[in-house]
Amino acid sequence: MGGGLLGLEAAKALIDLGINETHVIEFAPRLMPRQIDSAGSAMLQSKLTDLGLNIHLNKSTAYIGGSHKIEALHFNDESALAVDMLVISAGIRPRDELAKLADLHTGTRGGILVNEKMQTSDESIFAIGECALYENMIYGLVAPGYEMADIVVNQLTGGSKLFYGYDMSTKLKLIGVDVASFGDAFITEPDCRTIVFEDTHKGIYKRINLSTDGKYLLGGILIGEADAYNMLLQTVNNKMILPPNPEDLILGSRGNGETTGAGVMSLPDDALICSCEAVTKSAICGVVNDGAANVDSIKKCTKAGTGCGGCIPLVKDLVAGTMKANGVYIKNVICEHFDYSRQELFDLIKIGQIKNYDIVLDHFGKGDGCETCKPVVASILSSLWNEVIVKQDTIQDSNDRFLANIQKGGTYSVVPRIPGGEITPDKLIVIGTVAKKYNLYTKITGGQRIDLFGAHVNDLPAIW
Ligand SMILES: Cc1cc2nc3c(=O)[nH]c(=O)nc-3n(C[C@H](O)[C@H](O)[C@H](O)COP(=O)(O)OP(=O)(O)OC[C@H]3O[C@@H](n4cnc5c(N)ncnc54)[C@H](O)[C@@H]3O)c2cc1C
Repeated sequence: MGGGLLGLEAAKALIDLGINETHVIEFAPRLMPRQIDSAGSAMLQSKLTDLGLNIHLNKSTAYIGGSHKIEALHFNDESALAVDMLVISAGIRPRDELAKLADLHTGTRGGILVNEKMQTSDESIFAIGECALYENMIYGLVAPGYEMADIVVNQLTGGSKLFYGYDMSTKLKLIGVDVASFGDAFITEPDCRTIVFEDTHKGIYKRINLSTDGKYLLGGILIGEADAYNMLLQTVNNKMILPPNPEDLILGSRGNGETTGAGVMSLPDDALICSCEAVTKSAICGVVNDGAANVDSIKKCTKAGTGCGGCIPLVKDLVAGTMKANGVYIKNVICEHFDYSRQELFDLIKIGQIKNYDIVLDHFGKGDGCETCKPVVASILSSLWNEVIVKQDTIQDSNDRFLANIQKGGTYSVVPRIPGGEITPDKLIVIGTVAKKYNLYTKITGGQRIDLFGAHVNDLPAIW
């Protein structure tokens, strides 16, 4: 019950747990009504329906039916739905009982009223987090709570920092569908210029709202593809001037490699990169200047990226950008044996029509190869020439000699290669016969593999 952010994440989790019929009941006429508009919601709904969710909109639940156990949901429109489990995710209710007992002012729908200093109606009592009601708004995220805590500390230590609301931009990360809304997502013309891109075939909907002079990004919505979310959010938050063709922000670049204006290095020093841990661009660049050279070190030194993790792509870009600015040459090579990126090596192998690892190593590499470059070359060769993988057995690890992966406990999982998932009934029967003979746990996965778990090492040659 509840088609908001957490309700949808919970519904997908139920599907993943193997519950074969999952329904989402939403009171509003669209999903995620607080974050996305009608067109975006329709796109999201069709994607979720494809995942197996049954969505019911405009449904107001009158009561839960059943004797001694839940049996049905009954709705105000007289319809009913048989259910045997109910997950309710229908919003938050601030725990303000103590405040009420103390005669502090609370909102009509709950929440302790606070001013911009986070003071309640008794100025010596502060309230922060999800129990605090600021300008009719309860903030249901950790970042605004941290900001409120910061305001109180500042006030108590003689500062004058005030709370002016908090950005509620969100990116949905669990459901297998990218959904993001940022800045002022709902503002409409004539107060802004709106650019919309919609591809119903691929399930992509993107909307950006620009200032009427086209110079600034005010907010937007991304469904189906949200890679640009972090940078778009930074563009809004830091009031960055947009490039001449702002539609490039959602359509991709026209040749200069930038999709979001001037790029991450052009952000101001105080740009908030990690909102969970309140880490700014200058804090991250500072530790890179002091020698940190990867995301792990940034996490250790600043805590950036240790909350929801949504900022990690930006952190990576900042590390690379700062190192480059410091004159450090960053070359994306495979390993010490190949001084090329994967794409460069792919092109070289393709142009040279090379079909064997040893020749690749002779021509383009040095040494004996390692556990990093061997699988890379094996993957390139099989992508390019689609030969049976045993032809590359010199680059397989020993446990892959029979196309098997070693599992915990020393047994093997055997993964027969089925290109494109196409297989004849006879070949399927062979797999079934082998699995039956060796009494193997068998599964056909979405990745078009058949895994036969529990094979003993001595059985492997016999199996294949
Ligand atoms: C399933 C779920 C997923 C979420 N995911 C995210 C997410 O990905 N990102 C995000 O930013 N936010 C997320 N949130 C929201 C986030 O958890 C809350 O915004 C945050 O925890 C609020 O912090 P708080 O300290 O105000 O309240 P809480 O974390 O609720 O802490 C309040 C504490 O006060 C205690 N308490 C209550 N009354 C009294 C009393 N009278 N005396 C003493 N103690 C009392 C409670 O027992 C509780 O321990 C999620 C929430 C849920 C439920």
